[in-house]
Order: sequence, then C-alpha cells, then structure tokens
Amino acid sequence: MLDMWVRAVLLLMLVWLIAEHYQQWGKMRGSQPVRYRRTGKKRTAKPKGEFQGVTRKPICAECEAAEGQSQVEQEPPPQLNSSKGRRKTVKTDLQYCPNERCRYYGWLGRGNIRSNGYPNRGRHRQLHCTVCRKYFVESTGTLFYGKRYQPEQMAQILTALAEGLGIRAVGRVFWVEPETVLAWLSEAGAQLEAFHRYQSRQLEVAQVQLDELYGVIRAYQTGELNEAEALAALEQSRTSTWLWTAIDPRSKFWLAAVVGERTANNAWKIVHQVVGQLKPGRVPLFLTDGNRAYEQPLLSHYGAWQPPLEGQRQPRWQALPELLYAQVVKKRRGRRLVSVSKRVVFGTLEQIQTRLASSGKQINTAYVERLNLTIRQLVPGLGRRVNTLAHTPDSLARQVSLVQTYYNFCLPCRSLDSAATGVRQRTPAMAVGITDRVWTLQAVLAFRPPPFPQVS
Ligand SMILES: [Zn+2]
Ligand SMILES: [Zn+2]
Repeated sequence: MLDMWVRAVLLLMLVWLIAEHYQQWGKMRGSQPVRYRRTGKKRTAKPKGEFQGVTRKPICAECEAAEGQSQVEQEPPPQLNSSKGRRKTVKTDLQYCPNERCRYYGWLGRGNIRSNGYPNRGRHRQLHCTVCRKYFVESTGTLFYGKRYQPEQMAQILTALAEGLGIRAVGRVFWVEPETVLAWLSEAGAQLEAFHRYQSRQLEVAQVQLDELYGVIRAYQTGELNEAEALAALEQSRTSTWLWTAIDPRSKFWLAAVVGERTANNAWKIVHQVVGQLKPGRVPLFLTDGNRAYEQPLLSHYGAWQPPLEGQRQPRWQALPELLYAQVVKKRRGRRLVSVSKRVVFGTLEQIQTRLASSGKQINTAYVERLNLTIRQLVPGLGRRVNTLAHTPDSLARQVSLVQTYYNFCLPCRSLDSAATGVRQRTPAMAVGITDRVWTLQAVLAFRPPPFPQVS
C-alpha cells in the first residue's frame, strides 16, 4: 500500500517536472530570432538618404569557417600546491605541459610544472610535469629550440631586423648568412602570430582606424614616379602587395595586419580580425579612408535583423544602432592634397561627433597614417630600402608580424607617457591594458603561446 503511494507521488513529480521543462523550453524558443508577422500597421520609413538595410545578410567567410570549431569553454584543472620542504622553486608560471593526453595540457600556472635545472650544461632548462611525468625542454616549440646560436644572439639579430635594418645589413653586422636570418624569420612567424593572438584578446577600444598601405615599387623608390602615380599604377595592376592595418588611436595599439592584394576579400579579413580581438558587445567607432570595401564587413559583424518598415515587404539586416562609421575621403592631384571630405556611412554625424568629443578628437585618420609612417621605417620591404630577399609577399607578411609584435609589446612610445600618473616607458600593449611590462623580443620568442585562451 505504502509502496503504491510512493509510486503515485513519484509519478506526479515526474509529470510536474516534464510540464515545467516544457514551459521553459517554450520560453527559450521564444527568445530565439523572431519571425516577423505581417501586421497592418508598419513602423515609419527611414528618411531618404539614410541606410535602409539589406534583405540578405552579408556573410563573412571566416566567421562561417570558424562556426562549430569554437573552443569549448574548459574548466581549468585543480591548482596543485608545491610540496613542503622543497628547495626554492624556479618560476614556471609561463610554462605548460606539452603532452596532449595530460589533464594539465596547455594550462598555465596550475603548479604542475617543476624545473630540473640545466642538463648537460645546456642552454635551456629541463622541466617536467608532475601529473603525467613528462620531461621537456623550456624552449619546446619556440624558435630557440635545437639551435646552435645563443637565444640572446638570435634575439639581438631579430631585434635589429624589427628596428628596420634590412636582412642583408643584419647579416653583415652580426656575421650571419642572410639566408639564416630569413630562415629564423620564417620559423618565428607562426610563433609571433600565436603570441599576438593569445595576448590581444577582449580588448576594450573606443575607436578603430583602418587603412591600406601600398607596397613600394622600384619606380617610386628611384624617383621615376611620384606617390600618386605609383598609387594609380598599383591600383590598375591590382596584383601588388598591400598592407592593411588597423589601429586604436588612443593606445596606439596596432590591432591587425593583413598583407595581400587590395581586394574586398582582404577588407573582410582585417575587419574579421579586429572584431575577434574586441570584447564582445563593445562596438567601437570606425574611421577609414574612402575605400568602400569596409562597409559590408562592418555591416555583417555589427548588424541585426529588423522588422520591415513602412513600404518594405521583408525584414532587413540593419546596422546596430551602436555602430558608427565614417570615411575620410581625400582627393589628391599629384602630390598635392586637394580636398578632404567626410562621409558618414553608419550612424549620424552628431553621434560620431559626440563620441569623438569625449576624447577631444575630430574625424580624421591621422593616427593610422602616422602608424603607416612608422611601419614604413620598420619594414624595409615597404620603406625606401629595397631588399630583394624581402620582396615576396610571404616574407613581407612575416616581417610585418615581427614588426607588429615588436611595435606593440617592446617599443615604448613617448606619446604614451602619462603626465598625470608619471608613468613613462609605456608600450601600446601596456596602454591598451593587456600587459604591465615592456617585453624584450627574447622574452616574446621564449614564450610558448598556450593552445587555447585561459580563463583566469
Ligand atoms: Zn567574421
Ligand atoms: Zn602533463
């Protein structure tokens, strides 16, 4: 009898649970993208001249490719305490276990890495994971691994390269074959990119300026063509190498770089890169030159479906109200700047001016242009010194990624000195708030970027 009662109660509870879940599910469905029903009454149309939205969402190929691949948020493994009575342990916070089958694989600062000193009087420390007991050298996976040169020397050579000395000149100064330097550069490329990607996440940036910088061609360098003519020639050929850049004018942080042709495809690439680094939900103000290729990528990443307005039949993909985007259109005749005009693409002029007024700035792309000048000095393939070794797009891309990391993390910028706090010697990475120290290139190259972002 009692048994029957228990069963009945359990059954009732089960029914109640199912009913509750069904309701929850219904609510969840309700929160999914709304299908717009046609009602007699429509919202009033937007004024003419303002962007009306599009009936098809512009698709970002890179977002599509990344979909489904997103890293599952992992829980960090438990923190291990160093056992008592041990000798003073060496700092191993920036090292992780390279064993993919280990529970601690890829995690920084969980207390599982121990140092064993320098075996056979080698240059690199031997480490081991106390969980899976794997032994590895601290330089595993870095440029310094298995080289007969000292890390200090290699870092010096690459620093000279990052400071704008051409590959051949670097070879002469340091008595190394230019081919060796080029090989190191090519080997360090992926590591530098991974370092930059790992460090620059969740950035909070109020403004982004984008620009394209053209690869200098010989004729321009020898003075046969002036800048405008060279530009025209390049635009016609369309196959030359361009450098697409994005900068945050406040911190001077060089957010992203794409080396390639001046095509819409590369505009998508750079916008996608920038968006991926920013804190989700934060929409900065975008300023670019008159190139219209940025409009679709920005609309795609910062847009949403809106119900049809008066006179429209279908819902429209519209720019988010927070998205503000203006172009600074410069007209040149020869070397002379004829006119500068502004074109507001998303948002209104008042909104943009209000946003800029908070930082005491005006609509102009001066910052990104100044960065371009710096880049020209630092990347010989783009500057005045011709270097045949640096002339292939691949080698140019690697030099750019070296210079980008060096500029952001190693090079203090005088304009970032803070008069109020007296803080000097700040790098753009410090100003944007992702590190609190000036990195040396050696420290950058010794850092093994973890395979996934860490939750702290
Ligand atoms: Zn994208
Ligand atoms: Zn391990």
